Amino acid sequence: MMFIQRLFIAVALVGICSTISLADGKPRFDGDDSLFVEMYNLITCEYWDNDNLYPYADDNIPDTVHIKLTDEFRCFVMPVETKINSQFGWRWNRPHKGLDLHLQTGDPVKAAFDGVVRYAQYNNGGYGNLVIIRHYNGLETYYAHLSKINVEPNSVIKAGDVLGEGGCTGSRCTGPHLHFETRYKDRPFNPQEIIAFDQGCLSSESIMLTKSNFVIGKSNSVSTTFNGKTTKTKSNLKYSYKIKNGDTLLAIALRNKTSVKTLCKLNNLKPESTLKIGRVLRLR
Ligand SMILES: [Zn+2]
Repeated sequence: MMFIQRLFIAVALVGICSTISLADGKPRFDGDDSLFVEMYNLITCEYWDNDNLYPYADDNIPDTVHIKLTDEFRCFVMPVETKINSQFGWRWNRPHKGLDLHLQTGDPVKAAFDGVVRYAQYNNGGYGNLVIIRHYNGLETYYAHLSKINVEPNSVIKAGDVLGEGGCTGSRCTGPHLHFETRYKDRPFNPQEIIAFDQGCLSSESIMLTKSNFVIGKSNSVSTTFNGKTTKTKSNLKYSYKIKNGDTLLAIALRNKTSVKTLCKLNNLKPESTLKIGRVLRLR
């Protein structure tokens, strides 16, 4: 594709900034690719903050935004090849703004798309060690609870680069997993809108986001888009349980339609572990 056409797409995707200058830090480019320099400048010149989570603040989002996810010079890689432990939606009396992906501490966590590291540090708000990557289409992805961070703010990332190792840092973590979020202008939407996790690939090459994508319902409703078809499932299943006197893991598992094995995995327990009354267990 001609440079000017590619640049036009980049500008169309991320909006026009008034200044073109390299951000602080030393961006790493593979070769002297002026397109990537332009794209780097475009996504880092506004609302760019290495120390705060939500730089867009009250910036309005359009009613509808069309986002191209891949093309011939951008690809997608699964952050971890694994199953979903916990869904996007309402959970434990608060919104869960991402997906929990199963992993073991030390497992490599990869960048989903090309982009630039906006944030790479410990976060006191519950995320623990957190990496945020802003992508050239304006989306951001969040990778939380990492045991180790391998990247620095303002560095350029390719899809598939290992940005850190999975773990369980942060006050909201009860067992090793990757908390993975997808956001547009700070607003979270269900990563399953764009990624088919059971197949390890993107659901489509592009997505149309509307304001309804950013509403997190209280009904545990999960919307999944695949091959253009959207299915919604409602769940009345509880996500947590407070241990009471006389409880056993088997009884808790049976009552809540899960298994002892799952409870052990999610809560770092062994089947023979003594249950502490009052402890809150994750159920799924
Ligand atoms: Zn989570």
